[in-house]
Amino acid sequence: MTDRIIPVVDARAALRVPAGADLAADGRVADRLDRPLRDLRISVTDRCNFRCTYCMPKEVFDKSYRFLPHADLLSFEEIARLARLFIEHGVEKIRLTGGEPLLRKDIERLIEMLARLRTRDGGSLDLTLTTNGSILARKARSLAAAGLRRVTVSLDGLDDAVFRRMNDVDFPVGAVLEGIAAAADAGLAPVKINTVVKRGVNEHEIVPMARHFRGSGHIVRFIEFMDVGSSNGWRLDDVVPSREVVRRIDLEMPLEAIEPNYTGEVAERWRYRDGGGEVGVISSVTQAFCRACTRARLSTEGRLYLCLFATGGYDLRRMLREGASDGQISAAVGRIWQSRADRYSELRSAATADLRKIEMSYIGG
Ligand code: SAM
Ligand code: SF4
Ligand code: SF4
Repeated sequence: MTDRIIPVVDARAALRVPAGADLAADGRVADRLDRPLRDLRISVTDRCNFRCTYCMPKEVFDKSYRFLPHADLLSFEEIARLARLFIEHGVEKIRLTGGEPLLRKDIERLIEMLARLRTRDGGSLDLTLTTNGSILARKARSLAAAGLRRVTVSLDGLDDAVFRRMNDVDFPVGAVLEGIAAAADAGLAPVKINTVVKRGVNEHEIVPMARHFRGSGHIVRFIEFMDVGSSNGWRLDDVVPSREVVRRIDLEMPLEAIEPNYTGEVAERWRYRDGGGEVGVISSVTQAFCRACTRARLSTEGRLYLCLFATGGYDLRRMLREGASDGQISAAVGRIWQSRADRYSELRSAATADLRKIEMSYIGG
């Protein structure tokens, strides 16, 4: 299993390392490239009911694949405790992910617990979730009632045959479209829709996707296929650069660039000149955005990763389960963040291509 061959460091080791710089009086931290800690992505399960070819290819994630046993997963109480400690360091936004987060039993209970947390400024947390949308139609109301603010739905095409091929479990596109509609009805709006574009597989879906969601209030974001993990057979030739995505849409529906919503926003925003709303592109491969990356990732079993392409993580679960105090865990998180210098996408090169990296389904997108 991938995570077993990824080195894991006991997070307590961070306490023995002298702090790079003192924590700010208000607890906020910056890493070695002066990036604050703003976002936390929490993976709540490593399981998924899809086998998207670019994420959990069937040949690897087959019947013999050993997913984490339940006892290894962080409990909701453990997740909420860690989330509170991350917030002390400046986290304002939390995204639940996976695997498929809606498969985690009683996920609404975790959402309720997280929705009660307040940011350092006393505001409410920007609490969101990324899902494949397969069971969103029946979950949207209870998620919104539990305090979820927004939702991102992954959808790689409108053509049913293309979609079924990409999820590789023959799941129909209609059910995901119903999930998107249910999310909007439940107030989880605007719904963001993530489309991973793979050359020769769904590139012909770019314009139909844009056309379909134009004027709907939902925002489609086209993502460059990334070399995450070590099992998706990534090749640079399979990447459709974002500038090509924009060019294709602009030919039929003229676009103009707009300002980011906030510094460090990963999606580049474009709006239809006729007022039909906006689309986004995420150029993780062709235009790295590491300089503005303020994201930490907490894996399903409680390991802290500092980059989507990290080759090692820090074991926070051990601290939790061996009785560490809030102060000790908080200090470890602060020091670990202060030690961070990751900028994989900027450095992406032949030299890094052979590293064993963590699978997207384990660390969350
Ligand atoms: N199962 C949920 C879903 O699909 O939305 C959440 C987890 S999934 C790992 C999170 C996001 O990562 C999805 O939007 C997915 O499309 C994206 N993703 C997975 N593998 C990717 C890859 N190789 N390149 C780019 N995006 C990828
Ligand atoms: Fe599952 Fe999401 Fe990965 Fe697809 S992208 S296999 S839905 S975790
Ligand atoms: Fe952030 Fe790592 Fe992605 Fe760069 S490669 S944007 S540091 S997660």
